[in-house]
Amino acid sequence: MAQRIAIITGASRGLGRNMALHLADRGVATIGTYRTNKSEAETLIGEIEAKGAQAAMLPLDVGQSASFSDFAQSVRETLSGRFGTDKFDYLVNNAGMGLHSPITETTSSQIDELLAVHVKAPLLLSQALLPLMGDGGRILNVSSGLARFAIPGYGVYAAAKGAVEVLTRYMAKELGGRQIRVNVIAPGAIETDFGGGAVRDNADLNRMIAQSTALGRVGRPDDIGGAVAAILSEEFGWANGERIEVSGGQNL
Ligand code: NDP
Repeated sequence: MAQRIAIITGASRGLGRNMALHLADRGVATIGTYRTNKSEAETLIGEIEAKGAQAAMLPLDVGQSASFSDFAQSVRETLSGRFGTDKFDYLVNNAGMGLHSPITETTSSQIDELLAVHVKAPLLLSQALLPLMGDGGRILNVSSGLARFAIPGYGVYAAAKGAVEVLTRYMAKELGGRQIRVNVIAPGAIETDFGGGAVRDNADLNRMIAQSTALGRVGRPDDIGGAVAAILSEEFGWANGERIEVSGGQNL
Protein backbone atom coordinates (compact mmCIF):
# COMPACT_ATOMS: atom_id res chain seq x y z
CA MET A 1 0.00 0.00 0.00
CA ALA A 2 1.24 3.50 -0.83
CA GLN A 3 2.29 5.65 2.10
CA ARG A 4 -0.71 7.30 3.73
CA ILE A 5 -0.54 10.97 4.68
CA ALA A 6 -2.48 12.80 7.40
CA ILE A 7 -2.94 16.54 7.78
CA ILE A 8 -3.33 17.40 11.47
CA THR A 9 -4.05 20.98 12.51
CA GLY A 10 -2.57 22.05 15.84
CA ALA A 11 0.13 19.38 15.80
CA SER A 12 2.75 21.38 17.68
CA ARG A 13 1.44 20.44 21.13
CA GLY A 14 -1.09 18.40 23.06
CA LEU A 15 -3.49 16.05 21.35
CA GLY A 16 -2.49 16.87 17.76
CA ARG A 17 1.15 16.12 18.51
CA ASN A 18 0.21 12.82 20.15
CA MET A 19 -2.04 11.86 17.21
CA ALA A 20 0.89 12.37 14.81
CA LEU A 21 3.12 10.11 16.92
CA HIS A 22 0.52 7.31 17.08
CA LEU A 23 -0.05 7.57 13.33
CA ALA A 24 3.72 7.37 12.80
CA ASP A 25 3.69 4.06 14.72
CA ARG A 26 1.38 2.81 11.97
CA GLY A 27 3.63 4.20 9.20
CA VAL A 28 1.36 7.16 8.44
CA ALA A 29 3.14 10.40 7.47
CA THR A 30 1.96 13.73 8.89
CA ILE A 31 1.73 17.24 7.53
CA GLY A 32 1.14 19.06 10.79
CA THR A 33 0.36 22.69 11.46
CA TYR A 34 1.49 25.09 14.16
CA ARG A 35 0.37 28.62 14.91
CA THR A 36 2.92 29.98 17.41
CA ASN A 37 5.13 27.04 18.45
CA LYS A 38 7.32 26.53 15.38
CA SER A 39 10.26 25.09 17.33
CA GLU A 40 8.04 22.46 19.01
CA ALA A 41 6.61 21.56 15.62
CA GLU A 42 10.13 21.13 14.23
CA THR A 43 11.07 18.89 17.16
CA LEU A 44 8.08 16.73 16.31
CA ILE A 45 9.44 16.15 12.79
CA GLY A 46 12.49 14.49 14.34
CA GLU A 47 10.36 12.36 16.69
CA ILE A 48 8.20 11.14 13.79
CA GLU A 49 11.24 10.40 11.62
CA ALA A 50 12.78 8.43 14.50
CA LYS A 51 9.73 6.14 14.21
CA GLY A 52 10.48 5.64 10.50
CA ALA A 53 7.68 7.86 9.16
CA GLN A 54 7.84 11.17 7.32
CA ALA A 55 6.65 14.60 8.46
CA ALA A 56 6.42 18.23 7.48
CA MET A 57 5.12 21.21 9.44
CA LEU A 58 3.37 24.28 8.02
CA PRO A 59 2.15 27.49 9.69
CA LEU A 60 -1.61 28.01 9.94
CA ASP A 61 -3.99 30.11 12.00
CA VAL A 62 -7.35 28.38 11.67
CA GLY A 63 -9.06 31.56 12.84
CA GLN A 64 -8.00 33.23 9.56
CA SER A 65 -10.13 31.48 6.95
CA ALA A 66 -9.01 33.95 4.24
CA SER A 67 -5.61 32.21 4.38
CA PHE A 68 -6.95 28.73 3.62
CA SER A 69 -6.48 28.86 -0.15
CA ASP A 70 -2.82 29.86 0.34
CA PHE A 71 -2.49 27.04 2.88
CA ALA A 72 -3.94 24.59 0.36
CA GLN A 73 -1.30 25.74 -2.12
CA SER A 74 1.43 25.13 0.49
CA VAL A 75 0.02 21.65 1.06
CA ARG A 76 0.03 21.01 -2.70
CA GLU A 77 3.69 22.04 -2.90
CA THR A 78 4.60 19.96 0.18
CA LEU A 79 2.85 16.89 -1.20
CA SER A 80 4.71 17.07 -4.50
CA GLY A 81 8.04 18.35 -3.17
CA ARG A 82 8.40 16.24 0.00
CA PHE A 83 6.17 13.23 -0.56
CA GLY A 84 6.14 12.82 -4.35
CA THR A 85 2.35 12.71 -4.60
CA ASP A 86 -0.58 15.01 -5.29
CA LYS A 87 -3.03 13.57 -2.76
CA PHE A 88 -3.32 13.06 1.00
CA ASP A 89 -5.56 10.65 2.92
CA TYR A 90 -6.69 11.97 6.31
CA LEU A 91 -7.62 15.40 7.69
CA VAL A 92 -7.90 15.91 11.46
CA ASN A 93 -9.48 19.27 12.31
CA ASN A 94 -7.92 19.41 15.77
CA ALA A 95 -6.52 22.93 16.36
CA GLY A 96 -8.37 24.91 18.95
CA MET A 97 -8.50 26.69 22.25
CA GLY A 98 -10.98 26.85 25.10
CA LEU A 99 -12.72 29.67 26.88
CA HIS A 100 -13.99 29.65 30.44
CA SER A 101 -16.55 32.42 30.68
CA PRO A 102 -20.01 32.42 32.28
CA ILE A 103 -22.97 33.15 30.01
CA THR A 104 -23.52 36.43 31.88
CA GLU A 105 -20.03 37.70 31.00
CA THR A 106 -19.26 36.30 27.53
CA THR A 107 -18.63 38.96 24.87
CA SER A 108 -19.55 39.14 21.22
CA SER A 109 -15.92 38.94 20.09
CA GLN A 110 -15.30 35.85 22.25
CA ILE A 111 -18.26 34.14 20.58
CA ASP A 112 -16.98 35.11 17.11
CA GLU A 113 -13.52 33.75 17.91
CA LEU A 114 -14.78 30.42 19.22
CA LEU A 115 -17.13 29.92 16.27
CA ALA A 116 -14.38 30.85 13.80
CA VAL A 117 -11.94 28.30 15.23
CA HIS A 118 -14.29 25.44 16.11
CA VAL A 119 -17.02 25.65 13.45
CA LYS A 120 -16.03 27.83 10.51
CA ALA A 121 -12.50 26.42 10.27
CA PRO A 122 -13.43 22.70 10.14
CA LEU A 123 -15.90 23.49 7.35
CA LEU A 124 -13.84 25.91 5.27
CA LEU A 125 -10.49 24.16 5.75
CA SER A 126 -12.05 20.85 4.71
CA GLN A 127 -13.58 22.63 1.71
CA ALA A 128 -10.19 24.08 0.71
CA LEU A 129 -8.37 20.75 1.09
CA LEU A 130 -10.97 18.36 -0.36
CA PRO A 131 -9.60 18.69 -3.93
CA LEU A 132 -6.28 17.35 -2.57
CA MET A 133 -7.81 14.46 -0.59
CA GLY A 134 -7.96 11.12 -2.35
CA ASP A 135 -11.34 9.43 -2.76
CA GLY A 136 -11.84 7.08 0.19
CA GLY A 137 -10.13 9.55 2.54
CA ARG A 138 -11.18 10.43 6.08
CA ILE A 139 -12.02 13.60 7.92
CA LEU A 140 -12.03 13.55 11.71
CA ASN A 141 -13.39 16.59 13.52
CA VAL A 142 -12.67 17.15 17.20
CA SER A 143 -15.48 17.92 19.63
CA SER A 144 -15.54 17.60 23.43
CA GLY A 145 -17.35 15.70 26.15
CA LEU A 146 -18.62 19.16 27.11
CA ALA A 147 -21.03 19.01 24.16
CA ARG A 148 -22.86 16.20 26.05
CA PHE A 149 -22.59 17.28 29.70
CA ALA A 150 -22.52 20.80 31.12
CA ILE A 151 -19.78 22.27 33.32
CA PRO A 152 -20.49 25.93 34.15
CA GLY A 153 -18.39 28.42 32.19
CA TYR A 154 -17.99 26.41 29.00
CA GLY A 155 -21.32 27.26 27.33
CA VAL A 156 -20.08 28.93 24.16
CA TYR A 157 -17.11 26.57 23.69
CA ALA A 158 -19.44 23.59 24.13
CA ALA A 159 -22.06 25.07 21.80
CA ALA A 160 -19.39 25.47 19.11
CA LYS A 161 -18.36 21.83 19.62
CA GLY A 162 -22.03 20.82 19.42
CA ALA A 163 -22.23 22.63 16.09
CA VAL A 164 -19.27 20.74 14.68
CA GLU A 165 -20.94 17.47 15.70
CA VAL A 166 -24.01 18.38 13.60
CA LEU A 167 -21.77 19.57 10.78
CA THR A 168 -19.97 16.21 10.85
CA ARG A 169 -23.19 14.38 9.94
CA TYR A 170 -23.81 16.71 7.00
CA MET A 171 -20.24 16.37 5.80
CA ALA A 172 -20.54 12.58 5.97
CA LYS A 173 -23.78 12.67 3.99
CA GLU A 174 -22.46 15.03 1.33
CA LEU A 175 -19.03 13.42 0.88
CA GLY A 176 -20.17 9.79 0.90
CA GLY A 177 -20.25 9.76 -2.90
CA ARG A 178 -16.46 10.02 -2.82
CA GLN A 179 -16.29 7.29 -0.14
CA ILE A 180 -14.93 9.87 2.30
CA ARG A 181 -15.79 9.00 5.91
CA VAL A 182 -16.39 11.90 8.28
CA ASN A 183 -16.55 11.31 12.02
CA VAL A 184 -16.11 13.41 15.17
CA ILE A 185 -14.16 12.40 18.26
CA ALA A 186 -15.26 13.87 21.59
CA PRO A 187 -12.45 13.60 24.14
CA GLY A 188 -13.15 13.93 27.84
CA ALA A 189 -10.86 16.10 29.94
CA ILE A 190 -7.22 15.41 29.00
CA GLU A 191 -3.97 16.58 30.59
CA THR A 192 -2.58 19.03 28.02
CA ASP A 193 -1.82 22.78 27.90
CA PHE A 194 -5.50 23.31 27.02
CA GLY A 195 -7.25 25.90 29.18
CA GLY A 196 -3.93 26.98 30.69
CA GLY A 197 -3.16 23.36 31.59
CA ALA A 198 -5.87 23.37 34.29
CA VAL A 199 -6.80 19.67 34.04
CA ARG A 200 -3.13 18.73 34.42
CA ASP A 201 -1.95 21.36 36.91
CA ASN A 202 -4.96 22.13 39.14
CA ALA A 203 -5.02 19.26 41.66
CA ASP A 204 -8.58 19.96 42.84
CA LEU A 205 -9.95 20.00 39.28
CA ASN A 206 -7.96 16.90 38.39
CA ARG A 207 -9.39 15.05 41.41
CA MET A 208 -12.95 16.22 40.70
CA ILE A 209 -12.80 14.98 37.10
CA ALA A 210 -11.19 11.68 38.15
CA GLN A 211 -14.03 11.12 40.63
CA SER A 212 -16.66 11.73 37.94
CA THR A 213 -14.96 9.35 35.48
CA ALA A 214 -15.80 5.65 35.55
CA LEU A 215 -12.17 4.63 35.04
CA GLY A 216 -11.11 6.84 37.98
CA ARG A 217 -8.60 9.22 36.39
CA VAL A 218 -8.41 12.08 33.91
CA GLY A 219 -7.35 11.38 30.33
CA ARG A 220 -3.79 11.50 28.99
CA PRO A 221 -2.78 12.46 25.44
CA ASP A 222 -2.01 8.80 24.61
CA ASP A 223 -5.67 7.97 25.34
CA ILE A 224 -6.69 10.19 22.42
CA GLY A 225 -3.76 9.82 20.00
CA GLY A 226 -4.20 6.04 19.99
CA ALA A 227 -7.95 6.33 19.51
CA VAL A 228 -7.50 8.69 16.57
CA ALA A 229 -5.05 6.34 14.86
CA ALA A 230 -7.60 3.53 15.33
CA ILE A 231 -10.54 5.60 14.05
CA LEU A 232 -8.58 6.49 10.90
CA SER A 233 -7.60 2.85 10.29
CA GLU A 234 -9.19 0.53 7.71
CA GLU A 235 -10.82 -1.49 10.51
CA PHE A 236 -12.96 1.53 11.40
CA GLY A 237 -14.02 2.12 7.81
CA TRP A 238 -17.74 1.43 8.32
CA ALA A 239 -18.07 4.17 10.95
CA ASN A 240 -19.39 7.28 9.23
CA GLY A 241 -21.14 10.38 10.53
CA GLU A 242 -20.50 9.12 14.07
CA ARG A 243 -19.77 10.97 17.31
CA ILE A 244 -17.23 8.83 19.14
CA GLU A 245 -16.70 9.88 22.75
CA VAL A 246 -13.38 8.85 24.28
CA SER A 247 -13.52 9.92 27.90
CA GLY A 248 -12.97 6.92 30.14
CA GLY A 249 -16.67 7.23 30.99
CA GLN A 250 -16.77 10.84 32.20
CA ASN A 251 -20.07 12.03 33.69
CA LEU A 252 -22.01 8.90 32.73
P1 NDP B 1 -3.38 22.45 23.43
O1 NDP B 1 -3.61 23.80 23.98
O2 NDP B 1 -2.48 21.50 24.15
O3 NDP B 1 -2.86 22.54 21.91
C1 NDP B 1 -3.56 23.33 20.99
C2 NDP B 1 -2.98 23.18 19.61
O4 NDP B 1 -3.82 23.91 18.70
C3 NDP B 1 -1.59 23.76 19.47
O5 NDP B 1 -0.88 22.99 18.53
C4 NDP B 1 -1.84 25.17 18.94
O6 NDP B 1 -0.80 25.67 18.12
C5 NDP B 1 -3.07 24.94 18.08
N1 NDP B 1 -3.92 26.12 17.95
C6 NDP B 1 -4.62 26.76 18.90
N2 NDP B 1 -5.32 27.78 18.38
C7 NDP B 1 -5.05 27.77 17.06
C8 NDP B 1 -5.45 28.57 15.96
N3 NDP B 1 -6.29 29.62 16.10
N4 NDP B 1 -4.98 28.26 14.72
C9 NDP B 1 -4.15 27.24 14.55
N5 NDP B 1 -3.70 26.45 15.55
C10 NDP B 1 -4.16 26.73 16.78
O7 NDP B 1 -4.86 21.83 23.29
P2 NDP B 1 -5.31 20.29 23.10
O8 NDP B 1 -4.30 19.56 22.33
O9 NDP B 1 -5.74 19.77 24.40
O10 NDP B 1 -6.65 20.51 22.24
C11 NDP B 1 -6.74 20.05 20.90
C12 NDP B 1 -8.22 19.95 20.52
O11 NDP B 1 -8.89 19.06 21.41
C13 NDP B 1 -8.99 21.29 20.59
O12 NDP B 1 -9.89 21.37 19.51
C14 NDP B 1 -9.75 21.16 21.91
O13 NDP B 1 -10.92 21.95 21.89
C15 NDP B 1 -10.04 19.68 21.93
N6 NDP B 1 -10.33 19.10 23.25
C16 NDP B 1 -9.38 19.14 24.25
C17 NDP B 1 -9.67 18.57 25.49
C18 NDP B 1 -8.71 18.60 26.63
O14 NDP B 1 -9.14 18.39 27.78
N7 NDP B 1 -7.41 18.84 26.42
C19 NDP B 1 -10.97 17.91 25.75
C20 NDP B 1 -11.86 17.90 24.61
C21 NDP B 1 -11.53 18.47 23.42
P3 NDP B 1 0.49 26.48 18.70
O15 NDP B 1 0.93 25.78 19.94
O16 NDP B 1 1.51 26.38 17.61
O17 NDP B 1 0.05 27.87 18.94
